Parts: sequence; structure tokens; C-alpha cells
Amino acid sequence: MRADFHVHTVFCDGAASPGEMAGTALRLGLWALGFSGHSHTPFDESWCMSPSGTEAYRREVQALKAQYAGRLEILCGLERDLYSDAPEDGWDYVIGSVHYVRAGEDYLPVDESPELLRAWAETHFGGDPYAFAEAYYAEVSRVPEIPGCSVIGHFDLIAKFNEREPFLDETHPRYAAAWRKAADALLESGLPFEINTGAIARGYRSVPYPAPPILRWLAERGARFLLSGDSHSPEALCFQFDRWEREARALGCRMIESPLG
Ligand SMILES: [Zn+2]
Ligand SMILES: [Zn+2]
Repeated sequence: MRADFHVHTVFCDGAASPGEMAGTALRLGLWALGFSGHSHTPFDESWCMSPSGTEAYRREVQALKAQYAGRLEILCGLERDLYSDAPEDGWDYVIGSVHYVRAGEDYLPVDESPELLRAWAETHFGGDPYAFAEAYYAEVSRVPEIPGCSVIGHFDLIAKFNEREPFLDETHPRYAAAWRKAADALLESGLPFEINTGAIARGYRSVPYPAPPILRWLAERGARFLLSGDSHSPEALCFQFDRWEREARALGCRMIESPLG
């Protein structure tokens, strides 16, 4: 029995309404569906929920909970960015995510385009992609500070475009040292990590976040994992979950069934 707890809708940058996502989840036979709208970030409102949209989102998901009671468990979660100012209370669970590296007054998005990644490396890190990656993973190590955090979102998001347009060498010792330092801090927190197949569904990567070498390393240190689709449309719900559950278990990963434990 499947469930997906990383789900976006038209309240942020998704393509479908909560009702459409719930209808598909029911047809697919999921036992639960967790909505995780992008939390408001005041310095970049291009793809998050607005403050009033956040309240409307909560009301709509609450109404769906009642509508689907007994048929599909619906949760009202939030994908909370490290630099969000969204309300802290009233969420069923929170996915803690880093989408920006803060550099002085600037918030540099790491998942918009390979061109922008290279541009930020030039303008803020002396052209050194590893210095950028070190700054990114320093942000990631702070995810447990995110209010209410229950799951660690897309750990190696900075490598989103790396298969198609290499930005850095993921086997480089400085890259490995940067993610291992963040991973150590996160393991200390005991929070589970996502195995997030969203970038596969959208054609950016052939592997989930985190990439298999990182999964193996985390699994060897006892990390727990939750499959998540980062679904921005109904077709992406539970994308390739069977395959990646198999692969993850082969790497020694301990799986959990929901962000509630
Ligand atoms: Zn995200
Ligand atoms: Zn997401």
C-alpha cells in the first residue's frame, strides 16, 4: 500500500487542485495523501504560497479530509523552507527543505537552472562550484532548526542539473566532505530523510534525492527513509516508488511509511 506525503498543488507551483490530487490518489488506491505546499518566502514569492493562499490551502485541505474520511487519509503538511516566515502551528507534519543559499542580503536559489547555478558560483564564490556546494550543505545542516521539521527534504538538491549539465563532480573530495559534514549533523537529529523521486518524474535526474552513494552512506549509519514523489501533477504521485524501494532496501535503507513515524 502506497502513500505520498510530498505533494504540491495550484496553491504553490503544482498543476492540479488538491481535489484533483485526492481523486487520483483514491483511484490509485493510496492509503494516505499528504499535501506539502511550499511555505511562504518573503524574498521570493514566485513559487510559494502567499500568506492568504496559505490560509485558503489549509481550509481546502481540511474540507478534503472530511470529504474523504474513511476512504483516504489526508494530511495537511507544509514543505517549509529554511528561510520561510509561514505560520509554525497547525501542520500535521513538516518537510524541512533548503532551496536557497543565503549570501549576505541575497538568497540564491539552487534549483532554478544550471545557468543560474554557474552564475551564482561566479558572482558569489569566485567561480568555485565546490565553495558554493559547501555553502549549500552548511545550510542543509541547519534543517533540524526548521520549526516542526519531521522529514529532511531533497538532501542533494544542488546536484539537480548535474547529469545533463555538469556543474560539479559529485565524486570530488570537497563535494563529498561537504555533504558528509551535513549528513553527520542531520543523523545526529534522528530525523528521517526523503527518498524523493520528483526530479526523475520531471526528467532532470535518473536517480532520486539523495543519490545512491549518499543513500548507501546514510543507510550504513542507521538513517531512516520515506519515499516521496515531490508530485507537482497527478501523474507524478508515487513515481517509481516500487523501483526505488527495491533499490533502497538493496542499499540497506530502513524505510518508514509516513512522516508521523
Ligand atoms: Zn523543495
Ligand atoms: Zn517539493
